[in-house]
Amino acid sequence: SYAIGVDIGGTKIAIAIVDKSGKLLEQEVIPTDVDILPENMIHRINESISTIIDHAGIALKEIDGIGIGSPGPLDSKSGIITCPPNLKNWIDVPIVKEIGTYFGLPVTLENDANAAAVAEKWLGAAKECVDFAYVTISTGIGAGFYVDGKLLSGSRGNAGDIGHAVVDPSYGQCSCGQYGCLEYIASGTAIARRGSKIKGKELTTKQIFSLFHEGDEHITTYIHDVFQKIGVACVSIINTLDPEKIVIGGGVSKVGDPLFQAVTDYVRQNALNPAGRRTPVVPATLDQNAGVIGAAALCYNI
Ligand code: ADP
Ligand code: ZN
Repeated sequence: SYAIGVDIGGTKIAIAIVDKSGKLLEQEVIPTDVDILPENMIHRINESISTIIDHAGIALKEIDGIGIGSPGPLDSKSGIITCPPNLKNWIDVPIVKEIGTYFGLPVTLENDANAAAVAEKWLGAAKECVDFAYVTISTGIGAGFYVDGKLLSGSRGNAGDIGHAVVDPSYGQCSCGQYGCLEYIASGTAIARRGSKIKGKELTTKQIFSLFHEGDEHITTYIHDVFQKIGVACVSIINTLDPEKIVIGGGVSKVGDPLFQAVTDYVRQNALNPAGRRTPVVPATLDQNAGVIGAAALCYNI
């Protein structure tokens, strides 16, 4: 049997058929057009799903279901994408009903970070874990938590939004209204914004990290501060949920060792209980397909 995964992002939507071993049989990526009506975009998703099913030569009845990973906020219980900041016209879109009715298949909706957490649990760095946290640091910041062997979904599928946990109000006001959210300090977007200010010119996240690798004094001090704030968030996760492990993925985590070392050191010194201080903080092992594989895995009860 098979599952369909749909990974909705602000710039592209990946759609794939995934088998029970996690193998990706067929995939299509379509651009996200935020200017057209959401129902038209969903129509394109449905067409894409039909195309890959055709290409794979699979019958509809061999497919267990369709899993969707989407930016939040959403309501997984009613199957509605509520109002994601980077999908500007998507207000209260009943995506589960629209895709489910089209194919006559069960459809599951979760936020994208939760879907990626499921993928890391199924095939990645958290395979053996019963309790773990997955944190993604990319354009934005999100997380997914496994508690007692189950994905912590929350009452509406929005659990784990660690990006809007306050870690240092002195950094200024986040788009959500609070001061000093983790996402406002440590996302790729935040690093480009503040790094540019420090250097007095417009720089991309990648350019800031190049300066960091070259040992630029001000940027090095600044980036170490950012890593420490990620450490603050990890300590809160450890103190709250007592996970076996924290897995960090997303573009910014590609900086690698300096980030993992700094976060690990902070955890060693600041987690409340002695066992918690030893919590490993490790890189995610799945690549950019984690989103779509995790979305498909939502049908499999991983
Ligand atoms: P998305 O947010 O679309 O899911 P990514 O997970 O790739 O995409 O995250 C993109 C962010 O990660 C951007 O801010 C990008 O500059 C940053 N990034 C990508 N690669 C690296 C790297 N090697 N080192 C540091 N930052 C990176
Ligand atoms: Zn915020």
